[in-house]
Amino acid sequence: MDRVYNFSAGPSMLPLEVLERAQAEMLCYGDSGMSVMEMSHRTPEFEQILHDAEDALRKLMNIPANYKVLFLQGGASTQFAAVPLNLLSEHKCADYIVSGQFSKKAAMEAKKYGDIAIAASSAGASPTFSTVPDTTRADFRPDADYVHICFNNTIYGTKFHYVPDTGNIPLVADMSSCICSEPVDVTKFGLIYAGAQKNIAPAGLTIVIVRNDLIGGARDDAPAMLDYKLMAENDSMYNTPPCWCIYMAKLVFEWILSIGGLEEMKRRNEKKASLLYDYLDGPGQAYYTAPVDKKCRSMMNVVFVTGDGELDKKFAKEAAAAGLVNLKGHRSVGGMRASIYNAMPYEGVEKLVAFMKQFAIDNPKIQK
Ligand code: PMP
Repeated sequence: MDRVYNFSAGPSMLPLEVLERAQAEMLCYGDSGMSVMEMSHRTPEFEQILHDAEDALRKLMNIPANYKVLFLQGGASTQFAAVPLNLLSEHKCADYIVSGQFSKKAAMEAKKYGDIAIAASSAGASPTFSTVPDTTRADFRPDADYVHICFNNTIYGTKFHYVPDTGNIPLVADMSSCICSEPVDVTKFGLIYAGAQKNIAPAGLTIVIVRNDLIGGARDDAPAMLDYKLMAENDSMYNTPPCWCIYMAKLVFEWILSIGGLEEMKRRNEKKASLLYDYLDGPGQAYYTAPVDKKCRSMMNVVFVTGDGELDKKFAKEAAAAGLVNLKGHRSVGGMRASIYNAMPYEGVEKLVAFMKQFAIDNPKIQK
């Protein structure tokens, strides 16, 4: 069977070149005589892989020396707890910007550990979460230990088009669905975390990039595995790390560097997203609706609907038969969602737009 174009929100496509390299090294990595999957993490070979992965990510994202990079497990959802357990260290209060289900979940988890306020929310937008809230410094409590934001809202297809001004309060960002898709100024954030399964690697790895001064404040009763200090002191090797995922992440980081880094990644991602949004705003408008506020459209997750639930279902089913899979929208939103992460080739989006055009011709809407 041919490979399909996989529009899944995650786990999602990996670059073909990376899969081929992993395939070539699958049975024997370097001179080790074994696969990375079989390798102890306490070997010089694996230590080199971990070192190279961190090095490549630091280069890619231009991560300053006063930030630690951690390779952890438990998904982004575990960080919903780890962040408050470590960072609610001074005033035990933090402010959350709620722009979708994941930031809502993050806030709910944090409420177990301190005084959490919702500083701003776009839940009341119509449709719900179809935009991101505007914020000013005055929205945040001066004594908040941190402000939390979800930078790209995977389910709703929105993205923050600005970095909130939080003054001296550290900004913590969930970048699960946009990390490494374009350059970001890491210095604007106290902590960035991301599940790797969209833009970086197979599921099972979580990246945390944390400023040194925010390490060391974990509560006494925080689980050891969630204590950033312990993880940092042990260079992410306190226990067995997700070795295979770290190896794959290294290959992906090196692939992005080889094509020209995050500037080039952004150029490619913008080109793909523009192809789809230009169609939705142009000829496609007669048939499809893109419900998201234009100024905060995601470059990674493109949401659109036909306005008819039955047609949406038919669309996803027939697209899958044509090799364009996982286009069904999130169960809470309906419609369609095309996740076009780093590894989605431009041709995949071209094929999707061609399919959308043909589907509109073949399925005229009946006025109800
Ligand atoms: N945050 C965002 C923005 C996500 O998209 C997801 C998963 N889709 C999560 C958090 C939860 O991540 P995980 O499944 O890695 O816990």
